[in-house]
Amino acid sequence: MGKYGDFYEIGPWGFSKASPEDHAPSPKQFQPEHLSDPKFYEKGYHVEELGDGVHWVTSPSGYDAAFATTGSGVIAIDAPPTLGENMLAAIESVTDEPVTHVIYSHWHSDHIGAAAMYGPDVKIVAHEITRELLARFPDPLRPLPTETFSTDETLDVGGVRLELSYKGADHCPGNIYIYAPRQKVLTKIDIVSPGSVTFMYCDASENISGWLQAHDQILEYDFNALVGGHIMRYGTREDVITSREYFHDLQSSADEAIAEMSSTMDARMEFYASLSADQVLVGTENWINSMVNYATEKTLNKVTSNGQKWPERLAGATVWTKNHAYTVVEATRLERTHNGYQQRGAGGPEYIV
Ligand SMILES: [Zn+2]
Repeated sequence: MGKYGDFYEIGPWGFSKASPEDHAPSPKQFQPEHLSDPKFYEKGYHVEELGDGVHWVTSPSGYDAAFATTGSGVIAIDAPPTLGENMLAAIESVTDEPVTHVIYSHWHSDHIGAAAMYGPDVKIVAHEITRELLARFPDPLRPLPTETFSTDETLDVGGVRLELSYKGADHCPGNIYIYAPRQKVLTKIDIVSPGSVTFMYCDASENISGWLQAHDQILEYDFNALVGGHIMRYGTREDVITSREYFHDLQSSADEAIAEMSSTMDARMEFYASLSADQVLVGTENWINSMVNYATEKTLNKVTSNGQKWPERLAGATVWTKNHAYTVVEATRLERTHNGYQQRGAGGPEYIV
């Protein structure tokens, strides 16, 4: 046990800790070769060319970024602080060209929070919402974009073309698509973490309808490689299709849970029966958790399109399906037609006082 091994267990008030013996191992396909190469950890990065000049960079911290060499300067995409200056080392390992352009995928500091390392002379391109958010919450490590756009923008440097597009809020407002059409490389951050179920709570996303839709929008591009921003692996179309299927299953299970436990006042009131008025929120906790557990169980036990269950197909399924189920259940209640429509004069909850 490490320093924190025995701490922060606070019983029924907190989250329980995960134990390896309770969870499925990551599937083999989730363990690329560079993960077992000691040099990856010594250097702090791994760089790979995905298509004529367009490179993917990953770090042992699980953060991924990209850059394009053009012959007239490097276009860097993002600057995750946990990759940090190893991003510069990765660039210098393949070219002498200076970084002249930087693209911010979105405003989150875990993906662009080291951008100041590119220096004061670079052009920084981002969506106008990204600029607005960075101006509102200033951070010296995330310099303001020098050029912004609203729906579509093309960046052409030394004959290398990148098509930038904004299709609406998903993971967060201002999160853009960055597409290299000749190289068929798409960068879209924090939607699909290839080979895994993605980080908890739909990768801490804000607009879940948009986040789910982004899986379809990614597949509208003609790409061979997807830089997803995470987990030390770039993705293929197959990875995106698999991830989409997982979240479709989760959405169906969440819809069923809501229909079962939230679509009538009677169903909801079961969770409050026998509770006194000063413990009403315990009923609310149990109502939400019951829907989440229903959706989690349904998703994890489902035999999927290739005959396997999700823990056999995607890393982290037994760990984070419950978190995703919470997000999808709650977002469905907030972002879609509400099941709680009450008729005039109908009674609300009755509690035992
Ligand atoms: Zn993010």
